[in-house]
Amino acid sequence: MKNKSHLQKYSGPNSRYTCPRCGKPRELVLYINEETGQPYAPNVGICNRRDKCGYNYTPSQFFSDKGEIREVEIVPTRPADIIHFDTISFGAVGTLFPNARKLWCNHRIHLAALFGDDRVSKMHEDYMIGVYKNRMSIFWQMDEKGVVRTGKIMQYDPETGHNTGIFRWMHKEIGRPEFVLKQCLYGAHLLKGLELTRTILLVESYKNTHFVRCLTSFFVVVSTDNKGGFTAERCKPLKGRNVIVLPDCGAYDDWEKKARYISREVGCSMRMSTFLEERATEEQKAEGYDIADWIQDQILFGRALVDIENEFIEAV
Ligand SMILES: [Zn+2]
Repeated sequence: MKNKSHLQKYSGPNSRYTCPRCGKPRELVLYINEETGQPYAPNVGICNRRDKCGYNYTPSQFFSDKGEIREVEIVPTRPADIIHFDTISFGAVGTLFPNARKLWCNHRIHLAALFGDDRVSKMHEDYMIGVYKNRMSIFWQMDEKGVVRTGKIMQYDPETGHNTGIFRWMHKEIGRPEFVLKQCLYGAHLLKGLELTRTILLVESYKNTHFVRCLTSFFVVVSTDNKGGFTAERCKPLKGRNVIVLPDCGAYDDWEKKARYISREVGCSMRMSTFLEERATEEQKAEGYDIADWIQDQILFGRALVDIENEFIEAV
C-alpha cells in the first residue's frame, strides 16, 4: 500500500520550524505521515520562502536517502491555504485614517489640484488612504475579507505627483521584523459583497488606481503593486468576474500572456485593453507611459473631466 502524507496544518507559530537551508525560524512546514500522524523527521518539509530559499525535502527523497525505495504520495493541499502569513489589525487603519481628514499627504495635494476635493475625497474613502510622517501616504493592502495584509508607505512629489521611489512597509514600521508578508491586490476589499455584474479594472500601480477612481466610479479599480504582482495567486478573488486589464506601456505583451494563464487558473474573464497602446507616442511608450500620465495630460490640455471620463469608459 502506498504511503500518504500531507503538509502540517498551521496551528500557531509552534507548528512551524527553523529551515535547515536558510536558517529562518518558523518557516519550515513538515510533511506528516498519514499512517502515524507524525512527521517523518525534523528536516522533511518545505520552506515557506519558496522563491528566496526553495528548500523542499520530500518523504520519498528521505526514504531514498536511507536506501529504501518507498513512494510516498503527497495528498494535494493548496499551499496558499496552509502557509501562514501575518496580518495587521484593522484598528491600525482606523487609527491612522482619520488623520487623513485633517492632514493631507503629498499624493492627495497633487490629486486635489487636478480633480478637485470632492472626487479625491470619495476615492480616499474607498481606499482608506492614511497619512504618515512627512506627508507620506499609507496604502493599506486589505484582502477580499477586509483583512489587512500590510500597508505600503510611499512618498510623492506634491507638484509633479511623481513617486519619489521612497517607500516603507507598515509591518516594519510597527516593529514586527518576523512578519510574514503575503501581499494581495490593492483594492481587493472593495470586492467584498460586490455584485458580479460590476466590471473590474486591473492596473499596475497605486497611482493608476487613484487616478482612474478620481476620474470615474464606473469601474472598481484594483492594482497589483508592481509588474511582477500580476499573478494567479493574487488574482484569486477575481473568480467569476469580468476584468479589464490595463497595463502600463511596455508591459502589454508580458501581461497579455499572463492574463491568458491567470484567467484560466482563477476562472474569470480577462480582456486586455489597448487604450494606452493606441494613444501613446513611441517616445511615451519607451518611457513606460501609464493611465495616470494620460489622464493628467488630458486635464492639463484643458479638457473637461466629464469628456475625459466618457472617452475612457467607452474606449478602455
Ligand atoms: Zn528556507
